[in-house]
Amino acid sequence: MSMTPRSLTILGATGSVGQSTLDLVRHSNGAFCVAAVTANSSVKKLAAIAREFNARDAVIADASKYEALKSALADTDTNVSAGPEALVEAAQAPSDIVMAAIVGAAGLRPTMAAVRRGATVALANKECLVCAGDLLMEEVKRHGATLLPVDSEHNAIFQVFEAENAKSVSRLVLTASGGPFRNTATEELFSVTPEQAVAHPNWDMGAKISVDSATMMNKGLEVIEAYYLFPVEKNQIDVVVHPQSVIHSMVDYVDGSTLAQLGSPDMRVPIASCLAWPNRMHTPAERLDLQKIARLDFEAPDLVKFRCLKLAMDALQVGGAAPVILNAANEIAVEAFLTKKIGFMDIAETVEQSLTACDMKAPQSLANVFEQDNEARRITHDVIARLRKS
Ligand code: NAD
Ligand code: MG
Repeated sequence: MSMTPRSLTILGATGSVGQSTLDLVRHSNGAFCVAAVTANSSVKKLAAIAREFNARDAVIADASKYEALKSALADTDTNVSAGPEALVEAAQAPSDIVMAAIVGAAGLRPTMAAVRRGATVALANKECLVCAGDLLMEEVKRHGATLLPVDSEHNAIFQVFEAENAKSVSRLVLTASGGPFRNTATEELFSVTPEQAVAHPNWDMGAKISVDSATMMNKGLEVIEAYYLFPVEKNQIDVVVHPQSVIHSMVDYVDGSTLAQLGSPDMRVPIASCLAWPNRMHTPAERLDLQKIARLDFEAPDLVKFRCLKLAMDALQVGGAAPVILNAANEIAVEAFLTKKIGFMDIAETVEQSLTACDMKAPQSLANVFEQDNEARRITHDVIARLRKS
């Protein structure tokens, strides 16, 4: 099987999804090669990746790290650049697939740039869709881009969603592990530490999404993400807690059939599904052994204990600027929790107060989204300052 390798641009190559993607490239027997890799600030990790995969371009978002990256790669053929504009240029430069795996709204500009060149974009960066779902999906259509969902739930739905029977879909059911605090009493949640919050029972992920899983904001962001990715109404998306993370999500059809995708909780499976789409590729992921797992459990999510999930579902219903504000406030609150400025339960409190304090209309353009995102972050900092005084 000798073919020209398909080239990848990996936005956020040093992160958890980025590393899983690179691991698949390593195992692909030359079916994939690396065109461009980007990172926020870790020069050492990025340089090692660029060197191992002989990348054409390496981009560091933190412009002050340009010289360090340049000298780390001085003896290679890799082009080095730095700063937010360079990130956009990396997304625009030719490659067969763009893996959008930057965390947070910071990934929106480069992801949009990839969409606007009509690229095939494997989208992990869910915050993009939460902030600018309508605008992003319009641009996907306008530029004939292909958007493939990497998030395990959305990838599961994508695999079993019969596009030609979209009208016969009655419901999407997103499964949620329930995170590390599923069985923790609410009173105890006031004193949990960042270390406890990032220790996810099933998945090994970056710090931000791990905290989001612990608050269940992650599932809320995913409900919003699902709304933009699939042609369903807002009230056709449900969440069920499934602690084993074996069923990655389901689609109900009007005839009473429910189609699901199953697999061991390993991000290399949904990532491989995107990289090889519409075909399949081998992965080193553990095979599913249902006899060993023996049982699968399901329960309703607790929307009182996990207020963030409720806030996100409400933000989708309200629409307009609410998802932008929700996302910005959550990013700031999670950062404040990780740096021990606020407690775990203050995350939901901060997001709720920020949503109340921000008065904004639906964003009309990408520039508008960035303005609102900035303004929501400013307001959230004020909310946190007040919370810390009280
Ligand atoms: P991570 O924190 O491990 O990695 C984030 C990457 O983005 C890093 O390469 C980092 O250098 C880069 N980055 C961070 N801030 C940046 C900035 N301001 N500008 C440019 N680059 C920046 O995160 P992750 O767990 O890999 O998650 C990445 C995205 O994928 C998130 O949106 C997350 O919700 C989504 N996702 C992750 C998983 C998972 O298993 N980790 C699963 C589903 C979805
Ligand atoms: Mg997910």
